[in-house]
Amino acid sequence: MILVKLEDGRCRSCGGQLRIFNADDCSLEVECVSDECLDAYKVEPDAFADGGITYWPQAMVEFGHERGV
Ligand SMILES: [Zn+2]
Repeated sequence: MILVKLEDGRCRSCGGQLRIFNADDCSLEVECVSDECLDAYKVEPDAFADGGITYWPQAMVEFGHERGV
């Protein structure tokens, strides 16, 4: 799990903290850490304030399916 800093992005439903639990070439899958919300959805790799250069590469390393290096 990769936690998204609150200043970089928040849950679309409750405004709470998000964590990234999966990733692929064109999206990140996030879920809300709040037990009362637990919203989960896909976002673009650059959906967060990092412009797609922090979370997505990190998530691809952790969850992505590398296609030959
Ligand atoms: Zn939420």
